Amino acid sequence: MDEKKNKIDFLTVFMSILLTITTASTGWFGYRNILLLEENEQLLSTQKELEEEAEVRERAYIEAQNSINELNNELRSEREELQIILSELQEERNRNEDFEDQIRNLAGTVGTLDRLAQTDRELLQKYSRTFFLNENYRPAQLTQIPQRWVMPGRQDQYFLPEAWPFLEDMLKKAERDGHDLRIISAFRSFDEQVDLKSQFLRQYGTGANTFSADQGFSEHQLGTAIDIVDLKTGATEERFSQTEAYEWLKNNAHRYGFILSYPPDNDYYIYEPWHWRFVGRKLASDLNRRNMYFYDMDQREINTYLIYLFD
Ligand SMILES: [Zn+2]
Repeated sequence: MDEKKNKIDFLTVFMSILLTITTASTGWFGYRNILLLEENEQLLSTQKELEEEAEVRERAYIEAQNSINELNNELRSEREELQIILSELQEERNRNEDFEDQIRNLAGTVGTLDRLAQTDRELLQKYSRTFFLNENYRPAQLTQIPQRWVMPGRQDQYFLPEAWPFLEDMLKKAERDGHDLRIISAFRSFDEQVDLKSQFLRQYGTGANTFSADQGFSEHQLGTAIDIVDLKTGATEERFSQTEAYEWLKNNAHRYGFILSYPPDNDYYIYEPWHWRFVGRKLASDLNRRNMYFYDMDQREINTYLIYLFD
């Protein structure tokens, strides 16, 4: 009987334990299940939040993309406009430059014409026994040549003011090179010339016609011709051609715009080594380079040098 009771007790205990274990495990699993459910819910809400956020971001991205596209389009059209403005500006600039060129050319032409109009054409004229300057001709202005360059004992001498600086430079350079050039005669008025000629005529008779009184006549009346003497040797007239001073002039006068009007064996007049005429540096240098004399050149060609006369 005891044995049976023991069996039942044991069974009861066992069942109780089993029940307890079952209950406990059910409770634990249930609890765990609840935790899992909660976690799942949390995950779901997080997922939803993330999805919403992603949606927001995508919208923002699309908006930004649209803005960028819009800005790009604006930029492109602005750039195109700018390009148009730039090309218009360039065209305008080109037009202005053309215009400026035209103005400049016009001004240059006017300047040239002005200079030509202001330059006395007589200053480059060839004169002859038959073609003299008008007796009333007189340079607009005359400047007195400083006494130090005039042959002692001679009266005051005058020269064309615009040509004087060239003559002065030449006299100074000759002096530096050891030659004492002095002026015997420069500007001579028509009346002075007539007096001189009658003096020659009284002295030499009609033979005087071939002298300087005739041929240098008009050139001296211009105020741009000089008769020169070598102070060192006192050599005048034809003897002047024997001097070193004359050699110096032959080699250098063209640099200062002076030419020998009547060279030896010329077809027109007697040789006048003392008589030099200012015709401008360009013409004098070109004549020298071409080994040519002023009176050999065609008057039309000479006239083209008028514009360079005082350069
Ligand atoms: Zn002379």
